[in-house]
Amino acid sequence: MIRTLRPVAATALLLLLAVFLLPMLLLGRPEGEGPEETGPLPTASLPIQRPTAQGGAGGDGATLVRVAMPDGTTASLTMAEYLWRVVAAEMPASFEPEALRAQAVTARTYTLYQMSIGPNPSHPDADVCTNISCCQAYLAPEEAAARWGAEAQTWGEKIARAVSDTDGQAILYEGKPIDAVFFSSAAGRTLDSVEVWGGSVPYLASVESPEGEEVPNYHTTVTVPVEEFRTVFLTQHPEADLSGAPEGWFRNRVSTSSGGVDTVEVGGVAVKGTALRTLFDLRSANFSVAADGEKVTFSVTGYGHGVGMSQYGANAMARAGSGWREILTHYYTGVVIGPWKKT
Ligand SMILES: [Zn+2]
Repeated sequence: MIRTLRPVAATALLLLLAVFLLPMLLLGRPEGEGPEETGPLPTASLPIQRPTAQGGAGGDGATLVRVAMPDGTTASLTMAEYLWRVVAAEMPASFEPEALRAQAVTARTYTLYQMSIGPNPSHPDADVCTNISCCQAYLAPEEAAARWGAEAQTWGEKIARAVSDTDGQAILYEGKPIDAVFFSSAAGRTLDSVEVWGGSVPYLASVESPEGEEVPNYHTTVTVPVEEFRTVFLTQHPEADLSGAPEGWFRNRVSTSSGGVDTVEVGGVAVKGTALRTLFDLRSANFSVAADGEKVTFSVTGYGHGVGMSQYGANAMARAGSGWREILTHYYTGVVIGPWKKT
């Protein structure tokens, strides 16, 4: 696709800010594509909770989550109610049950982690919000019903089971809930957090991820006219030399552990692949880049920041027979899955 970047000078400053702020925001920002299924007709109200065998003290039914809503109010939901809404928003309900269970535990752990690190300045009176650039995605049952149409009952129950079957279970490192980041799809491997955000986190290491061509839009192309590329890039890096032929702009690529771009020199200036991802709105930093006299072409694989659990990878593992615990201990290194206890 050819995209035109609108008011370049005006957005450049925002983009510059984004380059520095995004790593913080993205920690915890899920990048799933969300449910792709749509349906024309709302159906009856959805089963968002089911009785659990383990639902005693400390389980999802006994944990309240304060959620900052888009209208400015704060809703108080049980963990079970909240997780239903997150899983419904974050992962296609058509995914394998074990992948949905892994997603439920990841979402629970992320929420417990947010609660454990204290008030978020963006919403000091709530534990989490519904803004995906801050916390996790959120889909109200009535919206889910409208989106899923005839499948609403089936998928609503499937998600409720994913939550209740993992009641109270969290991903723990040294006994504490981890910062359970996740994303949509990887290009063969996940990335170590140090490669993306610069900080080493022992449980966020690079591991293999089995998804591939079955992922929708696994390969995407972004084409930027050379003049536009020059303007946008020079606004960020005025010291770059983009006076020569575009064919020679990109040199000395250094790869990440998944074969993506760690750094690449653009007009003699080394930049992070993640910075180019932000600047040109690429679906991931796993790309190759080519330029000719007219355009710069990014060929991108996968979607998301690449750290933690891959959602499509979880689904591929589930299809191959892995259970949710195996999926989670694969994607998060050195962790233990167990009931979370407040300290
Ligand atoms: Zn938030």
